[in-house]
Amino acid sequence: MAVVGGGLAGSLLALRLAERFGGPSVDLYLGAATQGRDATVASGGMVRGFETDLDECRLAADSLAELRRDPALTHASGYQESPSHYFLRPEVDPDHQLALLDDVLGGSARLLPAGQVARTLGLAARPEGTFAVVEQHAGHIRPDALRSYAITRAVASGVRTHHEAVTSVEAGPTVTVDGMVRHHDVVVVAAGAWSSALLSGSMRTRRIQYGVYPLARPRLGCLVDDMSTLYGRPWGTGSTLLGVATSAWGAAPGDNRPDPAYEGPASEAARTVLGFDGPLPPPRWSAAGVDCFADHGGLRLRSVENVSGVFSFTGGAGSAAKSALASSRLAAVTVCEAVDG
Ligand SMILES: Cc1cc2nc3c(=O)[nH]c(=O)nc-3n(C[C@H](O)[C@H](O)[C@H](O)COP(=O)(O)OP(=O)(O)OC[C@H]3O[C@@H](n4cnc5c(N)ncnc54)[C@H](O)[C@@H]3O)c2cc1C
Repeated sequence: MAVVGGGLAGSLLALRLAERFGGPSVDLYLGAATQGRDATVASGGMVRGFETDLDECRLAADSLAELRRDPALTHASGYQESPSHYFLRPEVDPDHQLALLDDVLGGSARLLPAGQVARTLGLAARPEGTFAVVEQHAGHIRPDALRSYAITRAVASGVRTHHEAVTSVEAGPTVTVDGMVRHHDVVVVAAGAWSSALLSGSMRTRRIQYGVYPLARPRLGCLVDDMSTLYGRPWGTGSTLLGVATSAWGAAPGDNRPDPAYEGPASEAARTVLGFDGPLPPPRWSAAGVDCFADHGGLRLRSVENVSGVFSFTGGAGSAAKSALASSRLAAVTVCEAVDG
């Protein structure tokens, strides 16, 4: 089997496949030349169980449960626990998600009036009648560290890593590397934003960007405000990571240059949500990366139309650090079924 791409998705999938099939049957193509500019390097790494989409919520919750019960994973990923505060849009009914979180994460999540949560955190007042999902056990990881851990473990179990980039994936299935065509039983393209260069399909790309601001908000925990799209978390002592969703569709894969045009909207959203009188001070520094967006759903294994034996495993949608552990486990099961025929 070949896995093309050594971001968080490809690395975890290679490890899962090695656990099922034995490492020597797996080749992992890292694309080392672009690895330092991928989404996994730039990621803010916020993890929680709650998502407004029920399928995403299940994957995020299962991933968080695995992260918290496996001490090796907790340590290797640099998991730091803090509460998560997710302010909902008024029309969202989170009942099913809360029941699921109760099952998987045992009472970690509660639905509270948004105004009460905002007062506790020292945020601006919230619209009457709105709610927030508060999770006691959430936090952040270092996705890049989790990727390194997955690759190290995969290699230790016999997975062969190749630093080169794959130049094409064809029916057969085959991959072409340095002009050499290599045959495999199954090929999975997990090349994030670069995937559409190898596969046809309706994948899109979008820039994700955040700044690290000189603000001390230690009680903030992981914050999402679905109305303004503001998200953030404390960053070390005396700094806070803050960002808003960008509209930079079609961004070039690997373009990790922060766009100063997003500092204004982030500052405005932070002022409204955090309750600042004036503008936000400029960020100490900013980070950006480009992720892949599929038509529906997040990071999933998808078969490629009319090309038997070839799958994509991408669609992180700016959100897959929190779901990759569970998504990769499910993806490995489907690859296993494909190999067994
Ligand atoms: C700025 C930013 C902040 C984020 N914050 C969060 C967050 O707080 N919480 C959260 O859950 N998610 C977050 N995410 C999303 C999450 O980090 C990504 O969804 C996830 O890392 C995507 O992993 P990936 O492996 O699919 O893609 P990538 O990490 O982009 O990896 C793709 C890999 O494929 C390789 N490759 C490309 N072409 C080839 C080729 N031809 N041959 C071989 N290899 C190739 C590249 O080198 C790269 O290593 C954030 C993303 C960004 C960009």
